[in-house]
Amino acid sequence: MNINELKSALQEAGVVGAGGAGFPTYAKLSEDADTVLLNAAECEPLTKVDRQLLIQNVREILGGMQLLVETLGANEGIIAVKKSYTASIDAISACIGEYQKLRIHILPDVYPAGDEVVLIYEATGRVVPQGKIPIVVGCVVVNVETALNVYRKVFEQKNVTTKFVTVAGLVRQPLTAEVPVGVTVADMIALAGGTTDDDYAIIMGGPMTGRIVTESELVTKTTKAILVLPPSCPPVAKRRMTTKFNIRNAMSVCSQCSMCTSLCPRHLLGGAIQPHEFMRALANGLTSGDSVNTYLNSFFCVSCGLCEMYSCHQSLSPRSLLDQYKGGLRQAGVKPPERPMKPVDPMREERKVPEHRLVHRLGLAPFDVPAPLSRHTDFESVTLSLRQSIGAPCVPCVKKGEQVSAGQLIGQPPEGALGVCLHASISGTVTDVTDQAIMIRS
Ligand code: SF4
Ligand code: SF4
Repeated sequence: MNINELKSALQEAGVVGAGGAGFPTYAKLSEDADTVLLNAAECEPLTKVDRQLLIQNVREILGGMQLLVETLGANEGIIAVKKSYTASIDAISACIGEYQKLRIHILPDVYPAGDEVVLIYEATGRVVPQGKIPIVVGCVVVNVETALNVYRKVFEQKNVTTKFVTVAGLVRQPLTAEVPVGVTVADMIALAGGTTDDDYAIIMGGPMTGRIVTESELVTKTTKAILVLPPSCPPVAKRRMTTKFNIRNAMSVCSQCSMCTSLCPRHLLGGAIQPHEFMRALANGLTSGDSVNTYLNSFFCVSCGLCEMYSCHQSLSPRSLLDQYKGGLRQAGVKPPERPMKPVDPMREERKVPEHRLVHRLGLAPFDVPAPLSRHTDFESVTLSLRQSIGAPCVPCVKKGEQVSAGQLIGQPPEGALGVCLHASISGTVTDVTDQAIMIRS
C-alpha cells in the first residue's frame, strides 16, 4: 500500500484523531515524516481508555503503527507511554521486538504530557515552532485508538463505527466502554449503573479541557470521557464562572506572581505565551513598556488549563479569558503572528506538574479508581452527528425510511473538502435525516 492508497482508505473508513481534537488522520500523513509517534500519554485525569487498549489490543495498535511507519517511509515509530502505566508497558515490551522500527519511550507522569508539542519534545528533543504543526519537525503524532482504527481498516476492512469512552465520577460502576458512535450521555451513564447522587454536573472530554454537557449530548468519534462530578469540584465550578466575574477577579486579586507563566508548558518550551502579562493587560490596560503583543500572544495558548486549574494561587481563570480573547481575535479576522521561539527554559524539568498532585488539586482523587474495559452493542437507537471531526460536515447519502446495516456508508464530505466519511453504527431503519444528524433505530 502506498501513501495515497492509505490516505484514501482512512478517509473512506472515517478515521479521525480519537484523542479529542478530531483532525482527519489521512490529512496528517506525509512522506516528509521521519518519525511517527503514538501518543499514549492519556494525561486527562480519570480517562482510562488508551492504557487499557494497549493491554487488550496491543498487537493491533503496534501493527497500525508499523504500517504507518512503513507507508510513510519514516525511520522509526515511537510508542510514548507514561511511566505509571506499568501493565501497558509490560504488554508493549512483550511484543515490540516483533515490529521493526518501533521503540518504546517512557514519559514522566506529568500534565500535559499528551500535548503533542510536549510529547514530541519529551520523545525526540525537537521543538515544534509556535503556530506550526508537527510535520515541520518531521513528526506525525497519532492517538492509540486512531492507530487501532488504522489497523482495523487496513487489515480487517472495518470502518469506524465505535468509540471507547471512560465513564467515571458519581456513577455506580465506573467503566470504559466500546459503544456505537451516536449513543447519548444518558446511555453511557446507564451503562455505568446510574448516578450515585442527584446533584451533579457532567463534563465530556476530561476535567482539564472538556466541557459541561447534558444527558442528551451525543458520543462522537472524539469523545474520550464522560465524568459525572459534584458541582462544587473545581473543574465544574471554574467552568460556571462568567467572563465578567473572571475579569473582575483578575482586576481585584491578580498579584502578578507570574506562577501561571512559570508553569505554562508552552512557555517553558520557549513559546511567547505569558498568561500573567495577559492578565495584567486585561485588568489594567496596556501601560508603558507593554505592547499589543501581550494580546496577540494569546494565539499561542493551547488551552491546557494548567494555569487556572493548578498554577494560580488566587483561583483566577487565565485560560478561560485567553480562550475568549483569541476567539474574538479569530472572529475579527486577526491571524496568529509569526514569533521566533526562545530557548527551552533551563528550569523546565523542575517545573513539570506531577499528575497525582493535579488530581488532588482538582478534587478528583476519590474518583480515580479502575474503570474496566468492556464492549457494548445493544442500543436501540443512535444519532450520528454529521460533524464528527475538524473540517467540513458530512452530506447525508441515505434517506428517511431506508434500511441500513452497521458499517454502511451514510454520509460523505463534500467533494475536495477536508473531512471523512460517516457510517451507520448500528443496523436498522433511518428514522430522520436533518442538516445536523442522521437518526437510526434498530
Ligand atoms: S498565577 Fe494567578 S495571581 Fe499569579 S499572575 Fe497568574 S493569574 Fe495572577
Ligand atoms: S492554558 Fe494556561 S498553562 Fe495552558 S498553554 Fe494556555 S496559558 Fe499556558
